[in-house]
Amino acid sequence: MKNKINWNFDNSYSRLSNAFKEHIKPVAVKKPELVLINDNLAKKLNLNFTKIDKAELSALFSGNILPEGSDTIAQAYAGHQFGHFTMLGDGRAVLIGEHLTKSNNRCDIQLKGSGKTAFSRNGDGRAALGPMLREYIISEAMHNLNIPSTRSLAVAKTGEKIIRDTPLQGAILTRVASSHIRVGTFQYVAARDKKDELEIFLNYVVKRHCPELIHSKKKALDLLKVLINKQIDLVVNWMRVGFIHGVMNTDNMTISGETIDYGPCAFMDTYDPKTVFSSIDRMGRYAYCNQPSITKWNLSRFAECLIPLIHQDQDQAIKSATDLINTFEKKYEESWMNMMRKKLGLQGADDKDKFLIIDLLTWMHQNKADYTNTFCNLMGLKEYDDNLYRGNDFKNWKKSWLERLKLNNNTPEKYIKLMRSVNPLVIPRNDKIEKTLEIAENGNLGPFKKLLKILEKPYVYQENISDYLKTESSSKGYKTFCGT
Ligand code: AMP
Ligand code: MG
Repeated sequence: MKNKINWNFDNSYSRLSNAFKEHIKPVAVKKPELVLINDNLAKKLNLNFTKIDKAELSALFSGNILPEGSDTIAQAYAGHQFGHFTMLGDGRAVLIGEHLTKSNNRCDIQLKGSGKTAFSRNGDGRAALGPMLREYIISEAMHNLNIPSTRSLAVAKTGEKIIRDTPLQGAILTRVASSHIRVGTFQYVAARDKKDELEIFLNYVVKRHCPELIHSKKKALDLLKVLINKQIDLVVNWMRVGFIHGVMNTDNMTISGETIDYGPCAFMDTYDPKTVFSSIDRMGRYAYCNQPSITKWNLSRFAECLIPLIHQDQDQAIKSATDLINTFEKKYEESWMNMMRKKLGLQGADDKDKFLIIDLLTWMHQNKADYTNTFCNLMGLKEYDDNLYRGNDFKNWKKSWLERLKLNNNTPEKYIKLMRSVNPLVIPRNDKIEKTLEIAENGNLGPFKKLLKILEKPYVYQENISDYLKTESSSKGYKTFCGT
């Protein structure tokens, strides 16, 4: 099969200490059936599935057969879940191997929902069709929104029922990631309290994700700096499109800077900074507006893991790490301001920009305006017209905005081009996602595939998609779920 598909495995994580993983195979399933395959992603990975019949693809994407060169493992990790430290690990996922593309990009190929492992605790190791399709469509939408993300290569049904509140169809998602190494993986290694192991692991991660730091004399501190920058970039991107991750536990924060774990995530429609959809997040720890401060909190947990490698003198190490962590606010603020300036088409920086931005967000909040569509309206797209935008408060704000736009040789061509590059015209709206998933679970993938296609080009004007541009039934009260 290797030659037909072009798998090119080099399983570096498998070669690390057995303390970091369990060598385990996916648990075979009864009646595998391929539901979806991502041809564009396959092409990008130089994989060719076109010569394989559906039965074999179904067996492959359910873990019933394994590709040549794979070495299957479940990774150990720990993590702070809602602030509480726990030992975790891949409880329902198996890493098939690391595939190298022609341009030598290394990526993890993981089956999610592949059966019990040593880390399953009380779970059944399985996943349901609806949530796996949900992860598929939202992760692909994020990628197409130009936001770093794990990706989805395929979904296969297992032909087995899994028991949740009601019996559901079992399914397996093939997830592709630069790696599945998380802040929680470092927490796991650090908790073992063996400096040599931690050092080996740091060197491994640096080689894999930051090869430019290989010869650095202060690798640990430099990696911390890189991760601060990457995570700021990521969370600013989330804020840009109104994405709410929903479960920003440290085990769900990657070292690669890719968004991972699409359980309870959702997009905000009506602008409200306190928006939270996750059914278990009763205190709003992971609400939209808290995402930057939680990012900093998670990075602090990452820094703690590295202390023994930062400096022999612990006080000195803590001071260096703290100084770096304390750069977060200023860097985030700058990055967020620049992002918001782009959303408004502003060139250069003016002292009053922050007031202009805050005034708009306050207006949106008070008037229950749609976050995405307000920017589309400002870009002059007629589909996004609404009585809401005819009120005096909005008109007055717009006057100040138009004044500000005149600075720094800005022209309408320039500012519209800038705005169009960062403001999506369409996002995965909660009601559309739920409706298409329900139909897909009943065997009709048509509407799901249509939505997937529309979300491929979120910045491009598409004819006849007006149904997808508004949330019909308000997302107030919409609930999402973890680990389903
Ligand atoms: P998550 O909420 O998806 O980040 O998962 C948190 C932890 O629970 C991870 O260690 C998962 O592997 C584990 N987990 C989630 N669902 C299951 C399941 N059905 N069976 C076993 N482990 C699970
Ligand atoms: Mg997780």
